[in-house]
Amino acid sequence: MLTRLFRIHGLFVASHPWEVIVATVTLTICMMSMNMFTGNNQICGWNFDCPKLEELILSSDIIILTITRCIAIVYIYFQFQNLRQLGSKYILGIAGLFTIFSSFVFSTVVIHFLDKELTGLNEALPFFLLLIDLSKACALAKFALSSNSQDEVRENIAKGMAVLGPTFTLDALVECLVIGVGTMSGVRQLEIMCCFGCMSVLANYFVFMTFFPACVSLVLELSRESREGRPIWQLSHFARVLEEEEDNKPNPVTQRVKMIMSLGLVMVHAHSRWIADPTSSNGTRDLPEVGVSLNDNMPKRIEPDMPLWHFYLSRMISMDIEQVITLGLALFLAVKYIFFEQVEMESTLSLKVPTPSSMLSQKWSPDQCCRKEVPSSSNFSPSDLVIRPLPAPKEPGHKSTFVLGEDETQEIVDVSESVISLPAEPRPVEDCLSILKNPDMGARYLSDEEVIVLVNSKHIPAYKLEAMMETPERGVMIRRKMLSPKFPEPTALTCLPYKDYDYSKLAGGASSRVLADGMTRGPVVRLPSACQAAEVKAWLESTEGFKSIKEAFDQTSRFARLEKLLIGLAGRNLYIRFQSRTGDAMGMNMISKGTEQALTRLKEEFPELQILAVSGNYCTDKKPAAINWIEGRGKSVVCETTIPAKVVKEILKTSTEALVDVNISKNLIGSAMAGSIGGYNAHAANIVAAIYIACGQDPAQTVGSSNCITIMEASGPTGEDLYISCTMPSIELGTVGGGTNLPPQQACLQMLGVLGASQECPGENARQLAKVVCATVLAGELSLMAALTAGHLVKSHMTHNRSKVNLQEAPGICTKLAS
Ligand code: NAP
Repeated sequence: MLTRLFRIHGLFVASHPWEVIVATVTLTICMMSMNMFTGNNQICGWNFDCPKLEELILSSDIIILTITRCIAIVYIYFQFQNLRQLGSKYILGIAGLFTIFSSFVFSTVVIHFLDKELTGLNEALPFFLLLIDLSKACALAKFALSSNSQDEVRENIAKGMAVLGPTFTLDALVECLVIGVGTMSGVRQLEIMCCFGCMSVLANYFVFMTFFPACVSLVLELSRESREGRPIWQLSHFARVLEEEEDNKPNPVTQRVKMIMSLGLVMVHAHSRWIADPTSSNGTRDLPEVGVSLNDNMPKRIEPDMPLWHFYLSRMISMDIEQVITLGLALFLAVKYIFFEQVEMESTLSLKVPTPSSMLSQKWSPDQCCRKEVPSSSNFSPSDLVIRPLPAPKEPGHKSTFVLGEDETQEIVDVSESVISLPAEPRPVEDCLSILKNPDMGARYLSDEEVIVLVNSKHIPAYKLEAMMETPERGVMIRRKMLSPKFPEPTALTCLPYKDYDYSKLAGGASSRVLADGMTRGPVVRLPSACQAAEVKAWLESTEGFKSIKEAFDQTSRFARLEKLLIGLAGRNLYIRFQSRTGDAMGMNMISKGTEQALTRLKEEFPELQILAVSGNYCTDKKPAAINWIEGRGKSVVCETTIPAKVVKEILKTSTEALVDVNISKNLIGSAMAGSIGGYNAHAANIVAAIYIACGQDPAQTVGSSNCITIMEASGPTGEDLYISCTMPSIELGTVGGGTNLPPQQACLQMLGVLGASQECPGENARQLAKVVCATVLAGELSLMAALTAGHLVKSHMTHNRSKVNLQEAPGICTKLAS
């Protein structure tokens, strides 16, 4: 319930980023204005004479405070670096900065309204910074970056919110409670500090729940549009984030640091209260002037005797040593982050996790993807690697290079901007697997051969190859490498381009389900009389009869298991439709064999029974038949997707309204008028036939396999998106047996990642292929229906389909064929 609420909230924020950002910024500005109008625009020393509370401070405290400030600055710097690793140098960082800033404004305003004194804020600030944890923001951003499309970004932000929201809410609550203890201490300054701390935590929480996800959503949307259609989230690496939810669980170290810092806050202020006793002090110091005392010591307006800039300059010149140290450190880290981080981060990050920034800046080409190999040591372990920077190359634009391993003579490979050395011989599968699963390494640390080994050993599902590599392009390259040996040289693949393609456009899209799986064979048997035929029918439908027949049937194969008998009777003829799963085989031979055996058993039970034909067309195989349309045959699959209105308009060149109208008029009413059975589609048979020929299926089974009803509806908030589904109840196919043994057809099946028998779950490859067929039919339906609706059908066929050869003037062809 709670998770659902957070999910809905996340979806809302990610879907309305502009609104949320504008609202948060407006709120912050309003609070700032209120702050000013209520008197906090007073600059002590320039236009206001602020009463200065004298307090005795030990020099050791100054050191502690300076160290704390420095730690806080470094902490924030590392938080920014974390965000930086997610691919945005400034925008996410600025969002993070805004989080801190608005937290600050929020807290000061609330405390001001509570009429509390803000004296001592200066000391509290470092602790306040330490209370801010941007790691959750990083985790949320990772969720978003694992998306393939803007819709997925929203969905993943919602998922991230569902995962992180409850934890973060709890964290905020616990922090408030812990810090809130201080507000009951009776020590005035400590109470104010703790109150300030609580406000900071709440403000941080508020901004994380609203502003940050909105920013992430917006950044990704803008990135997509600004990079020539190459979305920033084309980062298959991050796809694993969703699977590795452990990563998103609260980091216990950060949690502990927060607790310790909260405790530190309490202790330091308790200590500071203790030393406020002048008898135990050895020095004095002006209290900070960030805030003002609001009670008895209201500041008095004065006429400034110098300009504001002069005032600040003179204050900077007269800064204390600890202020100089703090400011210096902050400036140093800021300069480092802004000007030098690019080079340094990319080179180091590329050796850790491939990051959006490094990946975006890489123009992957197969040459870059192909790694030169280095000799392996048999006991290679990733943790044994020694990483040393080499002198930077002379050529401008090159990044730092590194050598992995101890031997400097090892060959190194420049993969875009960094160097990874890989063994010449594939390492053991277990080693490769652990490298692949290591979030700090991944596929980038595996050679192509090692990836192929993992695919062949089914540790990488072949169809997930592109998704599991550091870039989809490398996945395509390796897939082609795997297929090449199956073709004579030069292979057809040589001329088939694959570089610089936006593979993200292929991901996402349609989703599908297999509804039923069962091949059928329907023999015809005859009895001496219709009444006897009815007796046999009743026996077959009884538990005892079915059990006996099933026993005989199941003996004939390791995969065929009788599931159902559908019996029809016509006079004294009996039609028995045997239905069984057939593993990864299409199963006609398999099931025919079982049926034959079952009929023999039936004849033993009813000796007067005459077996007319093992196929009585009640199956029904390779002929149009309502029984397949209604009962299903082979795989029954449904596939659906929603096409955004923009795509309907700009790519399909039509409108949802027109498509829905034509679909009803043509595919539904038109087919009904024609008395069609299972033909409620535009051209499913085209796609089925093409895939069947390419993948070694029995092409004649296109007849039943093309049964399909295509449904289109208007959807989405404005009703302009197009929802389309294809339901195909009788896809008859397999990935073993028949033509699937032929090498070219095997290559196609391998390309789809469904070659052969599924080791984990027999039948899974065939079911996956059926889903591919249904999804491709859906794409074909969309294409033809759009062409028809836009009136492009004839024109496009004339351009792309009509033969360019003048057949009357080319008798050579016929002659050649005749000879
Ligand atoms: P099949 O090649 O005849 O049989 C499949 C074989 O693969 C069986 O021996 C089966 O073992 C074995 N196998 C190994 N692993 C498997 C797994 N994971 N899943 C399923 N089987 C596995 O293929 P089929 O699909 O039964 O028949 C296809 C052929 O039948 C096509 O060529 C088609 O044109 C033709 N066909 C025949 C008829 C007909 O009336 N007979 C009708 C239409 C089409 P088991 O021995 O343990 O079962």
